[in-house]
Amino acid sequence: MRLDKFICKSTELTKAEAIQSIQAGDVIVNGCASGQGEIDEITQVHENNTITLNGQRLKLRPFRYILMHKPVGTICSNTDGDYPSLFNLLGNDLAIDRGLENISELHIAGRLDVDTTGLVLITDDGRWTYSITRPDKHCHKVYRVGLSYGIADDAVEALVARFKHGIQLQGEQQLTLPATLEVLSAKGSESKEVLLTITEGKYHQVKRMFAAVGNRVLTLHREKIGDIQLDVEVGRWRYLTASEVNLFS
Ligand code: URA
Repeated sequence: MRLDKFICKSTELTKAEAIQSIQAGDVIVNGCASGQGEIDEITQVHENNTITLNGQRLKLRPFRYILMHKPVGTICSNTDGDYPSLFNLLGNDLAIDRGLENISELHIAGRLDVDTTGLVLITDDGRWTYSITRPDKHCHKVYRVGLSYGIADDAVEALVARFKHGIQLQGEQQLTLPATLEVLSAKGSESKEVLLTITEGKYHQVKRMFAAVGNRVLTLHREKIGDIQLDVEVGRWRYLTASEVNLFS
């Protein structure tokens, strides 16, 4: 990987600060000092190289990347409130694993409401989270939504078009970004179940989008984030594979 990325992944420095250190000559790669033309921020380095910053040997921090199936009635915060925290489900094993004692270093990449179920991604890698949650990264999140009012067959086309065009949420200046609505067919009656794909994560976004079109969300379940699909039972978790992590690196 690039030298500036290696420094970011082994220290708390931002990319700009890492580049500054490299240009200032504070970094030594295999005995060769930076800032003298040979070693710069785009120099390719490997974990086996000896890299120091101000004389300190750098080691990559082992970030953790976890997929969990959130049960209803849990909150996406590190401490219990009126409801139990999702983090209780991780158990103690995880804290001991990889030498990280403090579970509070972990956070959720895109929180869900207490009554929402489904896929959450948990990590201690802030930059990775940023690439999932920033709207300009256009990371797709797929929600299965149970609605209060059925959608008649002859209303589907117009509703799909409204979601694609963008919805005016109460209290927001701009329309939501284009969203994909798929109305799941209900034999012989109006459909009350839909799949909604959005690329933003505004506060209560899905519930507010349906409220804006005169409906109400009764159940909400996140099935997918980017190409990562929920594949564990409710309340269970697993580590992401390296290729899943790399989808957002
Ligand atoms: N949108 C919501 O309204 N709630 C969630 O939990 C997630 C998306």
